[in-house]
Amino acid sequence: MNNRKMNITPNTTWKETTPGGVILDAGNAEDFKTGDWRAMRPVWHEDKCKHCLLCWVVCPDNSILVEDGKIKGFDYDHCKGCGVCTKQCKFGALDFVPEE
Ligand code: SF4
Ligand code: SF4
Repeated sequence: MNNRKMNITPNTTWKETTPGGVILDAGNAEDFKTGDWRAMRPVWHEDKCKHCLLCWVVCPDNSILVEDGKIKGFDYDHCKGCGVCTKQCKFGALDFVPEE
């Protein structure tokens, strides 16, 4: 292993940089149920939902389930409760409540 500190300048080429490492089988976020980090949870009111999908667009965790262009619910195994979706909904279809 080369522990030499590299002095990278704007003229350094990619061939001169230190090789990076690759971790195999590290898994991905889908493999971990990160929903238990949540302190607040979004609650969907289907009767008020216009299926505009604005909440789905802003969810950073891909936790809003859509089928045939319509909201079908939430993936609470992965929703971290950031609340961004609830701020986005202009139709009162999403509440944001404390986790029990
Ligand atoms: S933003 Fe509100 S109205 Fe639009 S799809 Fe989401 S829950 Fe439904
Ligand atoms: S609270 Fe955050 S993570 Fe959960 S569904 Fe809404 S936007 Fe996604």
